[in-house]
Amino acid sequence: MSGPVTPTGDAGTTAADQPEACELELIDGRRAEVGGFTVNRLLPRRARRTVGPWCFVDHMGPNTVDAANGLDVGPHPHIGLQTVTWLVRGEVLHTDSLGSEQLVRPGQLNLMTAGAGIAHAEQTSGVHVGELHGVQLWVAQPSATRDTAPAFEHHAELPGVELEHGQATVIVGALAGVESPARRDTEHLGAELLLVPGTSQLALDPGHEYALAVLEGSVSVRGGRLVPGRLGYLGTEHDEVTLDVDEPVRALLLGGEPLGEELLMWWNYVARTRDEITAAHRSWVDDDGRFAPVRSPLERIVVDDPPWSRGH
Ligand code: MN
Repeated sequence: MSGPVTPTGDAGTTAADQPEACELELIDGRRAEVGGFTVNRLLPRRARRTVGPWCFVDHMGPNTVDAANGLDVGPHPHIGLQTVTWLVRGEVLHTDSLGSEQLVRPGQLNLMTAGAGIAHAEQTSGVHVGELHGVQLWVAQPSATRDTAPAFEHHAELPGVELEHGQATVIVGALAGVESPARRDTEHLGAELLLVPGTSQLALDPGHEYALAVLEGSVSVRGGRLVPGRLGYLGTEHDEVTLDVDEPVRALLLGGEPLGEELLMWWNYVARTRDEITAAHRSWVDDDGRFAPVRSPLERIVVDDPPWSRGH
């Protein structure tokens, strides 16, 4: 999907209605619109830009889509990141400049690696009618791979882990010794947790930082209460986290080694310098061949130049 074109009000990022004993950093998402669909953007936020290499988290829906009101994002470019598309309900058709054409369904992973440049489109109109609920996340690629060739993977089957009161699906990385087959260029983890009432403990890597995003239900963790629309940052240097649940919960556990380098993100580009972004955007606007064509009935998305290069 598409990132923010213009930075909007980023005020009030930390929830104020939590008890002082709360050892959880609560970050309120903000509403954004993507391809005609309202999403809740949990990352990046002013209070927190990244969790490990995870640099973008959009919680999409739940909402209904039909032919008139879908989630339709026309061809647009990416560099320097992986997109992780994960659905709870509904279907989205992905097409990209590698020629991939893949319907993503709940419980399946669409993983697109942009590297030096890829373009893709995402569409529900003509594909799916009914409820749509899911997430799209971005993983910043490290300098070692971010200038390499783009790639696409679809994983219909992913490994599971039994928890004390529930189960987890390992989307990327490893949890409790169980490893996803999905490509990863850094040490990071993404897992979906389906929890039932009770207390579940998860082992964490003390060298990694973690966050939880609840998609359905609510969970109490370290004195704070997490509900959809809010990211709970768990920090680093913890070897476990305890989740108290009194209703069915669906949540994402995101983690990874702290990045250790500053990202520069603008529109759909993740880079390190303005020049890299300016060059990529020039190529997209001029359609000079760096980004190959995408088969899609949707219109190619073109936005204004980055603010630092306007008027040139
Ligand atoms: Mn996209």
